Parts: sequence; C-alpha cells; structure tokens
Amino acid sequence: MERATPEQPDFLARAKELLAEGFVHLPSVASTGLAKYEQDALLEAAERLQDNYPYHHPLYVGQMLKPPHPLARNAYALAMCLNPNNHALDGGRASSRMEREAVAGLANMFGWDEHLGHLCGGGTMANFEALWVAREESRSRHGVAGAVAASAQAHYTHERLSSVLDRPFVKIDVDAAGRMSIPSLERALEAASQTIDTVVVTLGTTAAGAIDPLPAVLALRERYGFRIHVDAAYGGYFTLADGISAYARAAFDAIRAVDSVVIDPHKHGLQPYGCGCVLFRDPTVGRHYRHDSPYTYFSSDELHLGEISLECSRAGAAAVALWTTMRAMPLEREGDFACGLEACLSAARRLYKHCQQHPRLAPIFAPELDLLVVAVKSPTAAESSTLAQEIFDEAAACDLHLAVVRVPRALALRAEAVTDWQDEETILCLRFCTMKPEHLPWLEQIRKRLDGAVTTVFERAAQTESLQAQVR
Ligand SMILES: *Cc1c(COP(=O)(O)O)cnc(C)c1O
Repeated sequence: MERATPEQPDFLARAKELLAEGFVHLPSVASTGLAKYEQDALLEAAERLQDNYPYHHPLYVGQMLKPPHPLARNAYALAMCLNPNNHALDGGRASSRMEREAVAGLANMFGWDEHLGHLCGGGTMANFEALWVAREESRSRHGVAGAVAASAQAHYTHERLSSVLDRPFVKIDVDAAGRMSIPSLERALEAASQTIDTVVVTLGTTAAGAIDPLPAVLALRERYGFRIHVDAAYGGYFTLADGISAYARAAFDAIRAVDSVVIDPHKHGLQPYGCGCVLFRDPTVGRHYRHDSPYTYFSSDELHLGEISLECSRAGAAAVALWTTMRAMPLEREGDFACGLEACLSAARRLYKHCQQHPRLAPIFAPELDLLVVAVKSPTAAESSTLAQEIFDEAAACDLHLAVVRVPRALALRAEAVTDWQDEETILCLRFCTMKPEHLPWLEQIRKRLDGAVTTVFERAAQTESLQAQVR
C-alpha cells in the first residue's frame, strides 16, 4: 500500500530526547506505554479510519484536502509531549512566542510591517473575529454597525456569521468569471436602504478559485468609506507564486491596503487541521478584546495571545508545527514552499487544457488558482448533471476521486456545455482541486482515468438509449 507521509520515528525520538533535556532536573515520573486493551483500541481505530477517501494520494483530486507536511506532523507530535495551550504565556510560553513569529511571517508575506493577529481554529473562526472587530469599530466610531457585503460566491459562512453578529448581510452578484461584480457592489453602496460598512473580498473562492477585483474595491472605498476584509483562507499563499496572472498579482498586492485578512495554514500551508489565522493591519483594534476575567492567569507584562483572541484554549502544537514548517521552508518567492504552489497551478492549467480539448467536457472558466470546474457536454442541463454524477462515481470506482459542485446557470452559460436549459437553474459540474504538488507528476494517470470514466459513462448511456429504441 502507498504509505501516507509518516512521522520519522527515529528522528522524532531524537527531538523528544532533546526536549526532555530541558526537564531533567525534575524527579523522574514513571512513563507508561500502552496496555493491551489500549493497543486493541488503537488498532480498532486504524481499521475504522480505512473508511475514508485516500486524501493523501495524488489520485485524490476532490475537495481541499491534503496531508500535512511530514515536518509539521513531527513538530506537532513533539509538542504533544507538553500539550501547550496558547491561550496564555503560562500555558505555553515557547509556543506562544513561536506563534507570534509565525503570524508575523504571514503578515510580512502580505507586505505588512505592523499588524495584530493570531492563529485560531480555522478560517471560519478567523473570519468571525474579523467581522466582529469590524462591527466593534463601526459601533465605536458611528454608534451603530451597518451591513456586511460579500459576493454570492463568498464562503457560505459569511452570511451565517453576519447573522450571529446581528449584522444585515448583502449578497453581491458575480460576473461571468465568478468574481464580485463591481457595478453590483456600487449599486448596493448607493442604495439608501442600508449602510454597508464592511465589504468581504474573497481572493480565491472555495468553489472555483475566483479572485474578486480588490483594486477596484479599494477605489470604491475612497468614495464610500467602508472596511475591507479579505478572505484568503484558501488562496492567500498564492501571493508567493510567480505563475499567477497579472490580474491575480494586482489583487494579492493590494492586500497591503486592506483592514483585515484571513489565511488558513491548514488549507495550503501544509498544516494539520486547527490552524487558521486572522490579521489586522491596525494593532489598536486589540482594545476591543479587553476583558477582566478572574480565572485567567496573566502573570507577566508580555502580551498574552488570549488577550487578543475570541477563543480561549488553543493548541500550542498548531503554532509549533507552523513555526517549524516556516523555519525549514520560509515564505519566499521561488523558495521550496512557493515551488510547491507553482506545481499546483501547473497541474490545474494542464488539466484545464486537457478538458478544453475533450469532446465531452467543457471547463466553466480558466483556473485562476488550482481549482478547476468542468461541465459535461449534453443537450439538456438535467442530463448534463446526471452524467457528471455518473462520471464522478465511475472515476471513484477506478480510484480517481473528484468532487462535484452545483454551478448557477449564469456562470455555466459561457462554457456552452448545454444547448437546452429547460427549467434548470443550476448544473452539477465536476470539480478538481490539484492542491498537492504531487498531482503534477501524476497528471498522465489522472487524465487516463478521467478519460476512461467519461468513455464508460457515455458508452453506457448510448447502450441504454439504443435498448430503449428497440423496445419502442
Ligand atoms: C475554507 C474556507 C473558509 C472556511 O475555513 P475553515 O478553515 O474551513 O473554517 C472560509 N473562506 C474561504 C474562502 C475558504 O476557502
């Protein structure tokens, strides 16, 4: 069996020994291994986990899933000897400092010299915090908070988070490329019915990897004065890639001028789940977090991460894993880490070309990042959707794992995959996420299995049709 990227037991043991040297002055405590019944439970867990898609394998091209880097796994496992809590320095002194360094590295990647920020459970939590700070800023300046605006292709949680924060949510249309429509945003800003004081700009939508036109949104800010929050949970690291388009480059470079940004090290940053990051350009927003809990144990004048975070307990190990990964693979253009991203981009573009030339397939748009959405050519929309589902199933039977996504008619029209839409408002499309650099050397295998699945499904459909014709 193909092995998932393993811990390196010997080297991890060496690192653990070194860590233990810091505590040798303490009287020793007997350490226990696993008892028989515990070993049995672990083996049972391994068996249970077999019931999964092979997320680690290059033939898994479905959702945004990949194994963390072996270095991140080793660092995380090392930190587990202590299980630090980055809520406060007393719970995780070293790991809190490592978090601050890693977070500063992410802020620098976006061109920020000054920032306030921290790690958190994930992109949703990070976005929540950014929308909350935006609300508090509005309240403290204007006495009230206005609405949040985001595109119809923004992550679905923005609408939900706005409702949790009791803020109205305005959905802005997207253009044919899946990007926030600037004329629609302008109309919403002009509308007298409500004040929009926060605009969420997505750099890399979750469904299709589209990039909202941030420079144009910045220009509107001059006229209307609102906060800009960038959701780069998935796309943020691509600012390091030289292979992105000039349009995407301009959008990523414009992050310098926004108020807050979210990036998920657990998506493209090679980290285990439980690692999102929120960054604010103005460090004084830290005042909104003020609290006077008698339980917490703030024992020094140094900044505690718990003082600038909505969450309380957080895995210090997540910070250790991220810090260690960034230490070995700095966030630099043309560095090892950036080269991995370039490979993901290349894989998506080659797969796009392949689908473009395929007689049965029609890409919805050229991939901006490493997501590709492809419709199946068919006379009707309903048939196209059925065929997409069948290709998904057939490919999975051949160990090629894709994803499916529902695409609104307005976006899918341009691909001209369907001649008669009838009453359908959406079609089911195939979605490829080439977010592992290993997809590139496996592309031939991926194409072969995809073509095989498409051929099988169309032959089967033709057989069914001719059988039906005979019966008639
Ligand atoms: C994944 C994603 C989120 C949600 O992040 P989680 O880490 O899954 O909570 C938010 N926004 C975008 C653009 C995403 O891709």
